[in-house]
Amino acid sequence: MSFYCISCLIHYDCLFFFMYLQNCFSGNIVSRQQWGAAAPKKKETMKGSAQRVVIHHTALPGCKDQRECMKRLVSIQRNHMTERGFDDIGYNFLVGGDGAVYEGRGWGVVGAHAKGNNHDSLGIAFMGNFKEDTPSPEAMSSVKRLLESGVHRGLLRPQFSVFGHRDLGQTECPGAKLYAALPQLRE
Ligand SMILES: [Zn+2]
Repeated sequence: MSFYCISCLIHYDCLFFFMYLQNCFSGNIVSRQQWGAAAPKKKETMKGSAQRVVIHHTALPGCKDQRECMKRLVSIQRNHMTERGFDDIGYNFLVGGDGAVYEGRGWGVVGAHAKGNNHDSLGIAFMGNFKEDTPSPEAMSSVKRLLESGVHRGLLRPQFSVFGHRDLGQTECPGAKLYAALPQLRE
């Protein structure tokens, strides 16, 4: 059982206890329904399994528990759908500072996260700003586990490559500290 699951069992409160338990047994992924996502305007299915992983940061203040992260997710989705005109939250998955993984568009769906590179890649955003902050070990290991599970389920090619958003476009994303940590995801 992961550190996240153990800590959530210790720090549970009534409202979130069953959600925590469910996440512990479903590989830690908080579903769209759980965080209160709005329905996507449209959904484009990926042709085949993803070949690349593109790591982002949200460049917003980080969040350290589910309550805080879920509020943030709702506002990110609203921003992506109304301000930026996306069909849904742009990323396939997001990860909070406590290592909880949140379903964005999810597996097998084309995202809107790295222009010109969305059709064969999985966009994963670390919640926070990693220009100066270091990603938490919990978040790093959750993303590693997520990628392993994708390979295991045939949704991500075993020889996938990992990019930082800045490798593919004119952006600082995912921040210098997170960018420096990406080799850990390639191990
Ligand atoms: Zn990005």
